[in-house]
Amino acid sequence: MNDVLPDASPAWLYFEQVTRDWLAAYGYKNIRMPIVESTHLFVRGVGEHTDIVEKEMYSFEDKLNGEKLTLRPEGTAGCVRACVEHGLLYNQTQRLWYMGPMYRHERPQKGRYRQFHQIGVEAFGMATPDVDAEVILMLADLWARFGLKNVSLEINSLGDKEERAAHREALIAYLEEFTDILDEDGKRRLYTNPLRVLDTKNPALQEMAENAPKLIDFLGDDSRQHFEGVKALLDAAGIAYKVNARLVRGLDYYNRTVFEWVTTDLGSQGTIAAGGRYDTLVEMLGGKPCPAVGFGMGVERILLLLEEQAVPVSVVAPDAYIVHLGDAAGRLAFVTAQQLRASGLNVLLHCGGGSFKSQFKKADASQARFAVVIGEAEAEANTANIKTLNGEGAGEQRTVALAELALIISSEGK
Ligand code: ATP
Ligand code: MG
Repeated sequence: MNDVLPDASPAWLYFEQVTRDWLAAYGYKNIRMPIVESTHLFVRGVGEHTDIVEKEMYSFEDKLNGEKLTLRPEGTAGCVRACVEHGLLYNQTQRLWYMGPMYRHERPQKGRYRQFHQIGVEAFGMATPDVDAEVILMLADLWARFGLKNVSLEINSLGDKEERAAHREALIAYLEEFTDILDEDGKRRLYTNPLRVLDTKNPALQEMAENAPKLIDFLGDDSRQHFEGVKALLDAAGIAYKVNARLVRGLDYYNRTVFEWVTTDLGSQGTIAAGGRYDTLVEMLGGKPCPAVGFGMGVERILLLLEEQAVPVSVVAPDAYIVHLGDAAGRLAFVTAQQLRASGLNVLLHCGGGSFKSQFKKADASQARFAVVIGEAEAEANTANIKTLNGEGAGEQRTVALAELALIISSEGK
């Protein structure tokens, strides 16, 4: 679990600013859920035999009433719980987003942490392929807004329940022929979650996984048409994709469309956003049946990628740093700083005393565009001395009337 220190936080703030504008552009509304939920919610929602529930959750008992609680490992289950609890899904559609920390007990490494952040997007009440394609397109748009390169899209269809059941039967029969080479995980999952056996990273099992019966060959007409619909819209929008028949996702709630945006620039933690359709989850968690589609995006991984690809992150430097000497000048500086802020400027007022020299060192370190100097003479004349510290005209110095200060800094500060 990481601290985000002041040197790193500008990248976070930039990320949040860009993503908020982006989410607004698609009409998504923000929802905020608690970080702690009932353990049962994730067991039901994410699935008993998933990696997350089997080994990654931080769970504990409430000391007072013995209730089993878990730090959320993902956001979809909690979002659905909140929507059901507050009746947000009756005869209406919802486009919702959230951002916040998620917790998974994993082996920490680059791009994989025990506390990480996701932006989650969930669209409820729409069963047609247009919304699947739209959430995928949104992400393509986000990469473009950030100027990210080397990201590619993989999609698949998991079909519906009956289709998955037929495939499951064929898959188990196929996998039973390989019990002698299956690893521990594989053996354990053969009957509980055979699809996950194919998701193995074990090189010895690749060929077996490669030749296994493919879910896509078991799709019925409706699922097939839905998948074709998604692909047609992606084609129309000029979004390149690869159909990966082995893409299954690690969470149980998906059906039909699943997708991952991956990059080759982050080693093995290459999935930066992943999601799909989950038409049965709302009902499973106690709501009326309600189709849904969504994705989770790993904030840390995208920040690593921005850094890796040297994407410039805009840092908000102060417009002015005010240095001052003497009691009268100090009072005037205090009031002037507030007037400048009221005009929309970002102003650092020097606090803590010290010589002009030491104050100027701090002004330089602040990266401010201007230093505003108020000494005894300036205080008496109601003026200030402006020194340009950074950008156009750096090094220039002049004295101006206090009344004009805000206007000069705003008009020349750009
Ligand atoms: P992975 O295969 O990398 O473990 P996942 O399938 O478990 O990913 P999801 O549950 O789909 O991941 O979460 C969505 C996104 O959240 C991932 O694509 C990734 O970007 C990010 N993510 C998941 N787990 C972590 C983690 N431990 N640390 C950082 N980011 C993570
Ligand atoms: Mg995982």
